[in-house]
Amino acid sequence: MTIAHDNVVLHEATRVALEYLDGLDERPVAPSATADSMYAAFSQPLSERGEDPLNVIRDLAHKADPGLMAMPGPRVFAWVQGGTLPVSIAADWLTSAWDQNTAFYQTTPACAAMEEVAAKWALDLLKLPSTCSVGMVTGATVANLVGLAAARHAVLEKHGWDVEEDGLQGAPKVTVIAGEEGHLAIFSAVRYLGLGQNAVRKIEADEQGRMIPGALAATLAEIDGPTIVCAQAGQINTGAFDPFVEISALCREHGAWLHVDGAFGLWAQASANLCHLSDGVELADSWAVDAHKWLNVPYDSAMVIVRDPAAHRAATCSIASYLSDNGPERQDPMHFVPELSRRARGVSVYAALRTLGRNGVQELIERCCDLSQRMRDQLISMPGVELLNHVVLNQAVYRFHRLIDGQIVDDDEQTDAMTRAVIEAVQHDRTCYVAGVEWHGQYAMRIALSNWRTTARDIDRSSAAILGCYKALLERKASPVST
Ligand SMILES: *Cc1c(COP(=O)(O)O)cnc(C)c1O
Repeated sequence: MTIAHDNVVLHEATRVALEYLDGLDERPVAPSATADSMYAAFSQPLSERGEDPLNVIRDLAHKADPGLMAMPGPRVFAWVQGGTLPVSIAADWLTSAWDQNTAFYQTTPACAAMEEVAAKWALDLLKLPSTCSVGMVTGATVANLVGLAAARHAVLEKHGWDVEEDGLQGAPKVTVIAGEEGHLAIFSAVRYLGLGQNAVRKIEADEQGRMIPGALAATLAEIDGPTIVCAQAGQINTGAFDPFVEISALCREHGAWLHVDGAFGLWAQASANLCHLSDGVELADSWAVDAHKWLNVPYDSAMVIVRDPAAHRAATCSIASYLSDNGPERQDPMHFVPELSRRARGVSVYAALRTLGRNGVQELIERCCDLSQRMRDQLISMPGVELLNHVVLNQAVYRFHRLIDGQIVDDDEQTDAMTRAVIEAVQHDRTCYVAGVEWHGQYAMRIALSNWRTTARDIDRSSAAILGCYKALLERKASPVST
């Protein structure tokens, strides 16, 4: 195989990638292929002699097409999907081509430096102390894990216990406290850390999913010893923020570590018009924030941020004598992440932040929030559509009621069924993509906006598609033939 041939395969991949990206706007959003048809398409015996790489790329791209969702496209509102700025994809391509194992400054000073600068910019935008340590990790799940590992280290150290050396067996009991509407990722992290997800003390939340400070105070009053409190910037369904000013004061009083899951919501800090929502979040001890969601870089990319770099480093640093260490001035990236070998995922973060600048980030965040309100206004203009949350950020949850003679049928089961039916119909329609969620025991449609590509026109088209599906279902239910 010649080098020239290798380049042909890269050019072909670029061509296919550009075709996919150019088609995002008009491509039906949901995949048309099923799991089984895709498995059948790709499944073949592993060949003895291998294949021509150009054929492999052409064939896999051709076969994959019907099985791809237009995920980086402008009308995917399920989960919190983010998007990809062209410059962040370009930087990601370079990251793969350079193939730098980004553990040390000494071996890849370029990538380590870009990551360190990107981290500094992020701290600045997020209004967090510039002295915090930052680890470039794969996602907010791992960012929460590392933040809570640093917390576990620090709260036990204060009680004279070295958890890194001696483990948890025989250690003073660590109490983890979280809001009852906290994200699943917090509970995974607690599980990985040997603290037990069932041992988490859950604090009552209000109807928007915000932790109630009085309930936290009551729980803290019952607890002695090492304590970690997990709060949230951006509830996954409502986008609501915990009251950080009160929570952080309670934590300080009690000597508890405050960790914040800000996977998408922490970016509110970058907006002069939205940062009142996250007031006091900078008073926490550690934070998790995704880059692959609202910063619109490709998967997988997130940051864990810790106020006390020593606690962070103690939890993740697996220093061995043969490994380089640049000392306190230029710290090697590997000391702040769980992995040893890894890609330079911070290069895309660097490229995205440098391209957007302060105004660009603020504009991206605010535009998504404005579009959420636009969609809200359109959806709730139709009788029978119920909004379940205050749309303060980019998240909204809706229910769809049955109507008889224009009157809402007030029956939770029938509303659940109608909401499910609308979601399914929208998924099949393929103009946009939405998913369902259970919120306070009720089935709902969750709409999340976090993609730079989404325009007002996309919102208008999507609202029309959602309301069209709902209308069609109402008419079908109303007609005696099909009931
Ligand atoms: C998405 C999300 C997570 C998990 O992040 P990943 O990047 O998917 O690992 C955690 N918390 C919140 C609030 C989220 O929105």
